[in-house]
Amino acid sequence: MRIVRYSRVGPAGRGVVIGDDVYELPTGSTEPGDLVGPVSGLALLPPCEPRTIVCAAANYAGQLAEKGMPHPDHPSFFLKSPNAVSAPNSVILRPAEVTRLEYEGELAVVVGRTARSVPAARAADYILGYTCANDVTAHDWRADGQWTRAKSADTFCPLGPWIETTVADPATLQITTRLNNKVVQKESTSDMVFDVAELLAYITRWITLQPGDILLTGSPAGVGPMSPGDFVEVEISGIGTLRNTVVDQHIAPSSLSSTALIGGESVS
Ligand code: MG
Repeated sequence: MRIVRYSRVGPAGRGVVIGDDVYELPTGSTEPGDLVGPVSGLALLPPCEPRTIVCAAANYAGQLAEKGMPHPDHPSFFLKSPNAVSAPNSVILRPAEVTRLEYEGELAVVVGRTARSVPAARAADYILGYTCANDVTAHDWRADGQWTRAKSADTFCPLGPWIETTVADPATLQITTRLNNKVVQKESTSDMVFDVAELLAYITRWITLQPGDILLTGSPAGVGPMSPGDFVEVEISGIGTLRNTVVDQHIAPSSLSSTALIGGESVS
């Protein structure tokens, strides 16, 4: 099942994608309701509203090899802030002070139930599904040690386009990132140093994750810069494609409210 959230007058809509169409998905139900319309005609919102976003660093064999890093003994994590979450087809804002903004295509795990001290063997029981993410990073600010702003500026965590709940094996997916239609990252999730279950087991020893929270699983080799005007896509086999455009923050149209940029609960 593919679960989407979309903008409409009033509370955000929640639906299920069947073919090219979206049907209403009442809260608490797994049965599709009335037809909403073609997914291409809806303003999609981020597919969930995480309270916590935990992110694995340097978790792909390709990236370790690229950077000459040794195989780690345990996963490394950092946080992204919920303010960074943005919608499919929305813009990624490049702050005026940033000269090198980077894409990081990643598999995002969406937590389905309260997860605390989850045994790796039972990780699947705590996962609602998977979506695509772009762990947008301001390289300048990471280099100067200010990871909080480097990873969590507004719009630095596009998610979507939907949550795919029927992924048989998250270790057999292909992640492809394209910049202006050119492939810049392509690697299998089988190349993860620590797999989804190991990551979830490790971090929930200390951080309780709630339904809708996000675990980013690290980016393949090929992380690189993107510039205003660039069109970036993160495609994951069996899930879908997340598309965003980069714009300069200082020239972003003032008529675009933060609601329009990141997808809010209502439209006027
Ligand atoms: Mg990353």
